[in-house]
Amino acid sequence: MESHREPDLREVDPEIAALIEGEDRRQRESLRLIASENYASKAVLEASASTLTNKYAEGYPGRRYYEGMDFVDPIERLAIDRAKRLFGAEHANVQPYSGSPANLAVLLGLCAPGDTIMGLSLPAGGHLTHGWKVSATGIYYHSVQYGVRREDHRIDMDQVRDLAREQRPKLIWCGHSAYPRLLDFEAFAAIAQEVGAYLVADIAHIAGLIAGGVHPSPIPHADAVTTTTHKTLRGPRGGLILCKAEHAAKIDKAVFPGLQGGPHNHTTAAKAVAFHEALQPAFKAYAAQIVANAKALAARLIERGYDLVTGGTDNHLLLVDLTRQGVGGRKVARDLNACGIELNANSIPFDPRKPFDPSGLRIGLASVTSRGLGEAAMDGIAGVIDAGIKASLAGGAEGIDPAAAERLKGQIREMLAPFPAPGL
Ligand SMILES: *Cc1c(COP(=O)(O)O)cnc(C)c1O
Repeated sequence: MESHREPDLREVDPEIAALIEGEDRRQRESLRLIASENYASKAVLEASASTLTNKYAEGYPGRRYYEGMDFVDPIERLAIDRAKRLFGAEHANVQPYSGSPANLAVLLGLCAPGDTIMGLSLPAGGHLTHGWKVSATGIYYHSVQYGVRREDHRIDMDQVRDLAREQRPKLIWCGHSAYPRLLDFEAFAAIAQEVGAYLVADIAHIAGLIAGGVHPSPIPHADAVTTTTHKTLRGPRGGLILCKAEHAAKIDKAVFPGLQGGPHNHTTAAKAVAFHEALQPAFKAYAAQIVANAKALAARLIERGYDLVTGGTDNHLLLVDLTRQGVGGRKVARDLNACGIELNANSIPFDPRKPFDPSGLRIGLASVTSRGLGEAAMDGIAGVIDAGIKASLAGGAEGIDPAAAERLKGQIREMLAPFPAPGL
């Protein structure tokens, strides 16, 4: 009998294979500064590309609706144990498909439709799923939103308290996608306790910083904590819920059968690998380096005449306010992308411009830190960002001069060459 070799991706589908190779190259060669992104390790990618994707496992370890759980149960148990150990949590649910479903599951578990919920508004740096009007969380719940102070763009705990006293929410979200300062979880908890609300911290962006001990942890203060696993935590694309033991049954029931079907076991395995990596001493150094890099880049950009929202950063991200440069974020982000610099246009607090073309740029340091770049490299990064913005301004509506963009691209490739990207 002839032996049969199964064709690989390139043979079966050269079109998709070539596109994936293109993305690999792009991730290797571009300066990746999108604050919600990272490079997962080769080990994480391997687990996430495994045959576990073939398996159904509705239910929880030891309580499944399917047979054949010999390996899936121990994998999910390991993921749960490691998540609890990493964050010091009483209970963990590792099944949420991503950050948004994790947040929906918490609402489903702790609130009834129509209940009042409170969150940081999107333009102030909050997330869609904290009750923004177009989100299911703003449609099925009565959502009231707090913001930041006009003077210093920091979260105004007095406003949070006043709003909570007046609205008596069932649940208060704290957490953000674009806020460059630390969150005072203790202050949020005191307000939630006073008005009898659940406090839920969404640490999607800062989970890696908390795991690494460079941002205060919400675990002692919050009823539940949600996160993505793919941002600063450097795991696979996925979600995670941590909660107090008293809420465990409600949260688990909300995830399955409330919201989801079979868990993505390949992702569960990859989450377990990422938690294992984050439990190593090297991860503490990684988290500290992200913050050191963010602070260094903030200083180098300020020196070059850029205004930063709140004047700097305490975490992994910066928000550049381009008002002084007299240009919108959308055009600049697009032109920088042509130079090999990936970041996103972002609203700034009290933004006079429209959300689709806001006044700000959001910059995150998790990805470049994963490649091993340190504070010394931040002057070079500020230099190419500044040169890219100047070229964008010079190009005007026509767009950036292609020769200038190519020069910067080459400079960036050279700058990144000594720092291999994990997973690639
Ligand atoms: C990214 C993010 C989410 C959503 O995560 P997805 O995986 O994109 O669904 C939720 N909350 C916050 C604060 C986020 O930054």
